[in-house]
This record gives sequence, C-alpha cells and structure tokens, in this order.
Amino acid sequence: MRKGLDLELVGLTKRYGDTVAVHAIHHHFKPGVYACLLGPSGCGKSSTLRMIAGHETVSDGSILLGGADISHLPPAKRGTAMMFQSYALFPHLSVADNVAFSLKMKGVDAAARRTRAMDMLALVDMTKYAERLPAQLSGGQQQRVALARALITEPQILLLDEPLSALDPFLRVRMRGELKRLQRELGITFLHVTHGQDEALALADEIVVMNNAVIEQAGAARDVFNAPRTEFVARFMGGHNVIALPQGHFALRNDLTRLAPEPGARLGGRVTSVEFQGTHVAVTVIATGDQDITAFVPEHQFYADPKSPGDGVGLVWDDEALHPLSA
Ligand code: ADP
Repeated sequence: MRKGLDLELVGLTKRYGDTVAVHAIHHHFKPGVYACLLGPSGCGKSSTLRMIAGHETVSDGSILLGGADISHLPPAKRGTAMMFQSYALFPHLSVADNVAFSLKMKGVDAAARRTRAMDMLALVDMTKYAERLPAQLSGGQQQRVALARALITEPQILLLDEPLSALDPFLRVRMRGELKRLQRELGITFLHVTHGQDEALALADEIVVMNNAVIEQAGAARDVFNAPRTEFVARFMGGHNVIALPQGHFALRNDLTRLAPEPGARLGGRVTSVEFQGTHVAVTVIATGDQDITAFVPEHQFYADPKSPGDGVGLVWDDEALHPLSA
C-alpha cells in the first residue's frame, strides 16, 4: 500500500487585518514527497504551514487531504503533525513521557503508551535518553525528542517550521541527513519551511518558492535551480547571474559563465573582485550595461591565467545555458 495522502491547497488565503500574508495560493503535493516551502522572511511560509496544521484559521480557500476538506478541523483531527522551531517540550516530564503525551490524552493505557514511545525513540536514536528530563539534553537531542513526539501520532503529513535554524552549522547538516532518512523510512510527506536555499536544495524532492504571499515557482529541486523562471527566483536560489541582453533578461549559472579574451566575447568588462572559494574562484566583472556578472572559474584554470581587479576581460557562455526570465 502506498503511504501518505495528497495534500491540495486551493485558493488558500490568510489575512491579518489589512495584511495579506498568503494570497490565493494553489498547490498539489503528491504523497510521500519531501517538500520545502522556501522564501525570504515575511513571504507567508509559516502562515501557510500553520493553516495546514490548523494552528491558524483559513481566511479563504481550502486545504484538502486525500480529497477531504480539513480546513476547519481541529489540529489533532487533521492527520497532520507539526514540529515547531522551539521544541516546546514539557520540562517536568521525562523524554519518554513527553513522547507518549498525546497517547495519554487519547486514553491509551500506560503499557501501550510506553511501548509506542520507546519505538519512536528508537526511530530517532534516543532510546538511552528515555528517562532524562528535557533540560538534561542538548539542542539536537531535544529536537529528536520533538520529532518522536510529532511522529507518534502517525501523521500523514509532518509539518516542520524552520526545524534546523536553532542548531549550529555542523549539527544542522547532520540533522538534515537524519530528516531525509526518516522521511524515506516512513514514506509520509514532509513539508519543511526554510529561508535557506542550500537547505532546500539538500533536502527537497520538491521546492515551492514563495515571495510576497504568492508561489513564485514550484517544481523538482533541480528544475527550480537550473531553470528559474523569474529574476527573484534566480537571485534567491543563488548560483546565477541575471543578465540583461537586447532580447530580454536571462538567468545564467555562475559556473557556466566563462572568462575569455575580450575580442569576440559576448560581453566585455572589468574585474571588480576575485574571491577564492575552495573548488573555484569567483571572479566578478562589471560588464556592459553596468551589470555585475560573476563567473566561477575552476581553481586550476584560474591559477593558470590569474586575473586581478582592474583587468579587462570578456565573458562567454553557451546559448543553451541561458534561461529567459519573466519580470
Ligand atoms: P514567513 O514565515 O515567510 O517569514 P509569515 O507567514 O510569518 O512569513 O508572515 C507573513 C506576513 O504576515 C508578514 O508580513 C507578517 O508580518 C504577517 N504576520 C504573520 N503573523 C501575523 C500575525 N499573527 N498578526 C499579524 N500579522 C502577521
């Protein structure tokens, strides 16, 4: 049996007084995907997630899970579970009791609760901490407990609001791997809110880019990165130049932008900065039309013919690397 249900947002809207936080968005999430809602602060990601969770009322439109309208159901009746940015564990309850809490509310008996809680703790590799209090755990460990607590309700969809933002960079990369592993093992939909494009690229099967309360572009992570449709997406995803040519605006990946002798180049310009970035050197050029264009030059290639700020250079690329942008 295929696990998970389709989640569909139909004209979903959130207004707070005069502020339109989410403006009539439509999207269909297939079952069992790892999806990231990505966008800058204030674009409406959390409001969308909170409406799906039932922690925020829907101003207009609806939320369908497996075809059933869940827009007005209480959170516990939706088949969703939310993992919050602050893990909000009960400080006076042990780890095992925190995880078992929702089963207690449902009237499940103590022995059955304990068994399920220990299963969930095994899933997140926290079995040996079952009797500790939250204050006796590190941030990463508290987060695993919060995950176990959300998953014990057997949700069809796990909602994660900036789940990695409180962790240090090393732990963040580790937890990101764990989230991905869990999602694959459970086969349910994870819907993860983040403002970090690297996090979204690393985790997501599907990326939904939001900007100013609307969905600007959605698709497979590679497609959104490789073929951004708007200037906003190209700039926000990073790794691209936005180039104005007589035919219009285009996105061009930095690593597909090459330096060349000025005669015969597509654009000419002057180097303004040179940054060593490990595997490549980022060379920024102020080019025709006063535009900043950055080429990622492979390290060995750069040092075979190094450039310095002030040098005149040309820029070239293959036509198929250009992606036309709408405004
Ligand atoms: P994001 O998660 O992308 O940072 P939010 O969904 O939190 O964005 O916020 C979207 C917009 O709605 C912002 O302009 C924000 O100030 C506003 N907003 C969010 N929550 C509330 C609230 N409880 N009351 C009033 N305005 C809010």
